Amino acid sequence: MIDKIAALEKIARQLEPDDTTRQELTKQVIDHTSDFLSVLDHEQAFFQNTEPENRDTLSEEPESMDQLLQFLRNQVEKDGINAASGGHMGYVPGGGLYPSALGDYLAAVSNKYAGIYFPAPGAARMENMLISWMNELMGFPPTATGNLTSGGSISNLIAVVTAREAKEVKAKDFDKLVVYLSDQAHHSLQKALRIAGLGEAQLRYLPIDDELRVDISSLAQTIKADKSKGLIPFFINASLGTTNTGTIDPIGEMSEIARKYQIWFHVDAAYGGFFQMLPEIRKRTTGIEHADSVTLDPHKSLFLPFGTGAVLIKDLTSLYKAHRYTADYLQDLVDSDSEVNAADVSPELTKHFRGLRMWLPLKLFGLKPFRAALEEKLLLAQYFRNQLQQIEGFEVGPPPDLSITMFRYVPTDGDANAFNEKLIKSIQDDGRIFLSSTSIHGKFWIRVAIVVFRTHKSKIDLLLDIIQEKVQELSS
Ligand SMILES: *Cc1c(COP(=O)(O)O)cnc(C)c1O
Repeated sequence: MIDKIAALEKIARQLEPDDTTRQELTKQVIDHTSDFLSVLDHEQAFFQNTEPENRDTLSEEPESMDQLLQFLRNQVEKDGINAASGGHMGYVPGGGLYPSALGDYLAAVSNKYAGIYFPAPGAARMENMLISWMNELMGFPPTATGNLTSGGSISNLIAVVTAREAKEVKAKDFDKLVVYLSDQAHHSLQKALRIAGLGEAQLRYLPIDDELRVDISSLAQTIKADKSKGLIPFFINASLGTTNTGTIDPIGEMSEIARKYQIWFHVDAAYGGFFQMLPEIRKRTTGIEHADSVTLDPHKSLFLPFGTGAVLIKDLTSLYKAHRYTADYLQDLVDSDSEVNAADVSPELTKHFRGLRMWLPLKLFGLKPFRAALEEKLLLAQYFRNQLQQIEGFEVGPPPDLSITMFRYVPTDGDANAFNEKLIKSIQDDGRIFLSSTSIHGKFWIRVAIVVFRTHKSKIDLLLDIIQEKVQELSS
């Protein structure tokens, strides 16, 4: 057995490269990323092509880092949307700050266990500090808490199950619950309700006004009518920046109604949340401090790489009720009096130490450039809309609340929807800028989501040129 162990050890030790090899591997990766970033501004934002050369498989034998990086470049990085590009203005992008990559690297090397305070007090403190900062941005009290999640969908799920526990609803009443939202709310909310077992809850789609904002004039009436029918008004969702158009719902008025009727009030700020760093936006979201829960996505308006969301919850007790568990094998953990364990407030136990990828850029750059970048994006959205509005034939969406805006070309004859379907296709085929489209009440719109920190005025000017070029091509 001793010989066998020795033989196995020899092979197993290949998992730990020596100092020189490790430095060489690291250098190869750094060179690769430097190459990627140095040409990024001129690269396509979208590229459809590569059929896989041959099927990738695993084998017993090692391959060289060179080969693997080449594979990555050709088979993964090139293909599809270039989400790091300043030309990515589709869906809701973010870009991916470089120091976040370094944060991930540091987190992975030390592999701190950030789920619980006891094994990694510093990591728990760091993540809780970030959550406190976000709570302050929302005007939440210091007792509020939350969790760094993998994204907005999981954040919405945590909010929904916490609301379910807080309101002490029983399974027999699930079909009596009423959720109030607009048809512009993100579909992850409906998905969260279904995962939380509340798929039978009734969804009340609130009317929206011409600017696609929830029209609350009939909300109180609707709630009263629901109550008189024996239903249970349960959850009101407001969007701080809808995904379609970046619209801010009347958060203050909705929060008042929620409080009056004791309904859980959730603000989905997955896209718009960090615009709270701008005083002019904060003024428009007064009332958010009364929310019970808020969803944010640092991988959108804080420009982090994908995989970081956040949920803020005011009432720790309900959050615990929904998520806290203990196990025999965890009996010697010592709880902290002051720090919340991530594992007690989310479905995760072992988790990515994702706080480090958020902490590093915020500390390294300070908050000022984030605030500037956010304000720049707001102004770029207005600039784009103003410019396009002056060109004949274009219809633009409502003035943007944040940094998403939309437009369509209305041809002098022929079907406008069909024309814009062709237009988005030709913009995507061109690929220098990536845009995506949406339909609002039967009208086909092309969206421009200016969220990547690398998107500056030159890209918007390029986009304006591309759009006119494509319209001309399609019209002739
Ligand atoms: C993106 C988005 C979500 C979902 O977040 P993921 O990070 O993609 O899971 C939820 N709500 C809104 C408003 C969003 O924009």
